[in-house]
Amino acid sequence: MTSSDALSPVRLRRALDAVPAYRPGKAPTVLEGVDAYKMSSNENPYPPLPSVIDVVRDAVTGMNRYPDARMVPLRERIADACGVTADEVVTGAGSSGVLGQIMGAVVEEGDEVVYAWRSFELYPILVSLAGARSVQVPLTADARHDLSRMAGAVTASTSLVIVCSPNNPTGPAVRAAELEEFLARVPRDVMVVLDEAYLEFVVADDAPDAMALYRSHKNLVVLRTFSKAYGLAGLRIGYAIARPAIADALRKAGLPFAVTTAGQEAAKASLDARDELGVRVKEIVGERGRLVDGLREQGWDVPDTEANFVWVPLGADALAFVEAADAAGLSVRGFPREGVRVSVDVPEANSRLLQVAAAFRAERADGPTAG
Ligand SMILES: *Cc1c(COP(=O)(O)O)cnc(C)c1O
Repeated sequence: MTSSDALSPVRLRRALDAVPAYRPGKAPTVLEGVDAYKMSSNENPYPPLPSVIDVVRDAVTGMNRYPDARMVPLRERIADACGVTADEVVTGAGSSGVLGQIMGAVVEEGDEVVYAWRSFELYPILVSLAGARSVQVPLTADARHDLSRMAGAVTASTSLVIVCSPNNPTGPAVRAAELEEFLARVPRDVMVVLDEAYLEFVVADDAPDAMALYRSHKNLVVLRTFSKAYGLAGLRIGYAIARPAIADALRKAGLPFAVTTAGQEAAKASLDARDELGVRVKEIVGERGRLVDGLREQGWDVPDTEANFVWVPLGADALAFVEAADAAGLSVRGFPREGVRVSVDVPEANSRLLQVAAAFRAERADGPTAG
């Protein structure tokens, strides 16, 4: 490529200059004689259920045809599970895809979008793509949303507020009482999205009941996904629950065939297999507890987590820790100068992570960079 090829011959949107690149979780380095584990993308570590693979296999035999664009059977199933009607369910290519539709439906160029930071890396990307401005409200010292400050950050230019609960990458869920107070303060013409990608892993008894809040707040949109607890990350299917008028707008802002037949069938089969999947979720929650306890015993200041990952606030040591884990066949997600997010995996992987963390700590305590 010559240097002139680096310049686009056509006019590109200026908004793109402000769009940060999304960094997908890395695959682990494969080491001789060591099982490698990818603990960098918050995926479900268990393989798909046979019953789900069966329906997907059937679905692909018809892939010369477009998928069902209206998806009534799937939307009815989701609606049943959430206690709403099918016209309040909007599906898309992952909840990321649905969030893109939300931006397309409510965010005008120049608007402000309020969300906590650090939070999901996709938020600043979608906001910049929309030509809007991110208003990032810092997390509290214990890595939680500062909902009072977030409500205070809403101005006449704000068209959307995103609450990520549990928060990716730090882990805490918002509390029901603080979320209610927050919703009472946000003007009713400003949409609030509650991103519950990790809902199924939540055990805290002070966590919000999103569907109850949805019934009492017309500007609340609940965002959920089949990618994490349901283990369908690779098939790309997520959904929003929204009032019918909002749901119609979200559908207009989406592409007609974004969800494949395989995705639709897998989602229905996964809802059928909820109990079986629930057993796995319980195991992950148990392993999460073991990781958090183990890390805290070693002296790490790990925040509470209600998700399928654990945040280790390593500060300047974040990337060195990523390398140490990689050398042990584990890929984790590093955030330079902030910390490392570790997705809960099968017991062997989690145990190895604890060993890496203990060795890392011991080495830092002995070495020249201690303190
Ligand atoms: C993983 C994740 C999503 C969902 O991603 P999709 O695969 O697009 O459904 C949404 N929000 C947060 C905070 C996530 O971490």
